[in-house]
Amino acid sequence: MKTFILASKNKHKAEEIRQILGEDYQIKTMDEAGLENFEVVEDELTFEENAKKKAVQVYQKVGIPTIADDSGLCVNFLNGAPGVHTARFAGENATDEMNISKLLNALHGVKDDKRGAEFVCVIAFADKNGCKLFRGGCKGYITNEKRGTSGFGYDPVFYYPEYHCTLAELGPEKKNLISHRAKALKLFAKSLNLS
Ligand code: IMP
Repeated sequence: MKTFILASKNKHKAEEIRQILGEDYQIKTMDEAGLENFEVVEDELTFEENAKKKAVQVYQKVGIPTIADDSGLCVNFLNGAPGVHTARFAGENATDEMNISKLLNALHGVKDDKRGAEFVCVIAFADKNGCKLFRGGCKGYITNEKRGTSGFGYDPVFYYPEYHCTLAELGPEKKNLISHRAKALKLFAKSLNLS
């Protein structure tokens, strides 16, 4: 069995990665690897640079192959914002509620066909051979109001056209088949089988 470190304290992400990679891989979160006090500042301009920075810094610290991810929401009408600032769109300690309010206000009065958006996830994998990047995207539209209760973050205002509902109405099983994170993770998993 191979062990990878996940450069995140988010147990939800670790579980999703375990499900996609299967039983041949043991995934340890930062806490499980004794790195609870190790912080990497996410201050880069792109998802790729942030994910790479996290994976490389943690790999250099522990010497065990490391997976990191960075994700966010890019809204066409806002020229790609909030992008790498998605988690902090409404301020440093913003809640999901505050971020969603800011987004809906920024799009107030904008017509449906101009409300296109994409969730993006970049997975970085660092080991002795360097760092590889895998990008997944999920395209949809920002609604005018919140709908649905499952998921997290911006899910209640992200409309996914193929299923005619928001990600918060879709539920976790279906979301995990089409999400930006699942797509990036599947590309990463594929690269492991090939090498
Ligand atoms: P991070 O990758 O944990 O830094 O995520 C950045 C932010 O993007 C999160 O705080 C969420 O607000 C948002 N986000 C990322 N993925 C999703 C998703 O699948 N649904 C809703 N919001 C998401």
